[in-house]
Amino acid sequence: RPVDLTQMINDRIRDVPDYPKPGVMFKDITPLLADHTAFAAVVDAIVAYYGRGTIDKVAGIEARGFILAAPVAYHFGAGFVPIRKQGKLPAATYAENYDLEYGSETIEVHKDAFAPGEQVLIVDDVLATGGTAKATAALIGRTGAEVAGISVLMELGFLGGRDRLSDLDVHALVTV
Ligand code: AMP
Repeated sequence: RPVDLTQMINDRIRDVPDYPKPGVMFKDITPLLADHTAFAAVVDAIVAYYGRGTIDKVAGIEARGFILAAPVAYHFGAGFVPIRKQGKLPAATYAENYDLEYGSETIEVHKDAFAPGEQVLIVDDVLATGGTAKATAALIGRTGAEVAGISVLMELGFLGGRDRLSDLDVHALVTV
């Protein structure tokens, strides 16, 4: 793990004010993804934290979580499972609804995505309030699999997401 990983990440995540709505500071990871060295370093750091052989499946949260979760799964020698917005998965699903600041959101997973007892790592780009991660952990729990932890590129610490996930191992490469 390069000593300047934190700086490498911070330098390549672009703050976009008032996107997608006024008052939100959007953390845009596209500059990081476009940089081969930085992209590889973050994937390697996530894999190194848990270690090869500890994870059976990696669950990526739509949509930016997919981009990070797939190479992480490959390097673990693990499978990849998509956690998707309602109505996108074709076969039988479990669904979890959770509240957003305004309104609510529903996410789904295929009922047969995991075998009971499998160790699952959740991967996403940004941990904000933790609502999405908490609902994802609940979905995985309903399949009988176990959540080994959640890895994110960036944690927005001031939103308290980690506190809402107190029963989970939350691993953030950078916290702001
Ligand atoms: P939350 O459920 O509040 O933890 O929100 C996490 C989800 O929303 C993740 O899938 C993120 O990609 C996205 N998200 C929330 N806030 C931001 C932000 N400020 N910048 C980028 N993505 C965000």
